[in-house]
Amino acid sequence: MGSIYNKIFDFETKWNGFNKTPFSKNDLIELAERNDIVVLKDHSVKNACAFHYGNRKIVMYNPHQPDMDFTLSLGHELGHIGLGHVKPHSEPLHANFYSNSTIEKDAGIIGFLFWAPSSDLHQMDNAGRLNLEEIYNHCKDYRYGDIEGADLEKICKARLRIYNALKRIKKNSHLCTLC
Ligand SMILES: [Zn+2]
Repeated sequence: MGSIYNKIFDFETKWNGFNKTPFSKNDLIELAERNDIVVLKDHSVKNACAFHYGNRKIVMYNPHQPDMDFTLSLGHELGHIGLGHVKPHSEPLHANFYSNSTIEKDAGIIGFLFWAPSSDLHQMDNAGRLNLEEIYNHCKDYRYGDIEGADLEKICKARLRIYNALKRIKKNSHLCTLC
């Protein structure tokens, strides 16, 4: 299993509340600012992007997007920065939820965890009702944005896969930081 999962464990320690509580728009902005990332509104970016300017790390986001899309896109960009994908002088990275490239997928995973933390899925798991439909309904009810049903289903599927992978790793390492 790749290093993305080790990184997730790092972020759980470094980023208070990460993968334990859902992050709102303000939670994400606060987290970014605590980590010396400059957060700017910009109407010309599709959802969000991350880049360096001089020696500052910058994240730009489009303020006209529903909260769920905001969490996924800014969370995705914080993922890029946290994972070291954003380098000085490189092109801005834009949130792309459906790309197959490893860095896009890995950043996407971080965005998903800000949106639907493992603690939510852990509760379903404990109640014996962890399945795609439960995740879908859980997320749709209070965290639904402009993302179409079919895409939301794809995101929920990815989320379930991540949960199961993390659970396997934590079981093997005799840790349970999910609880
Ligand atoms: Zn990206």
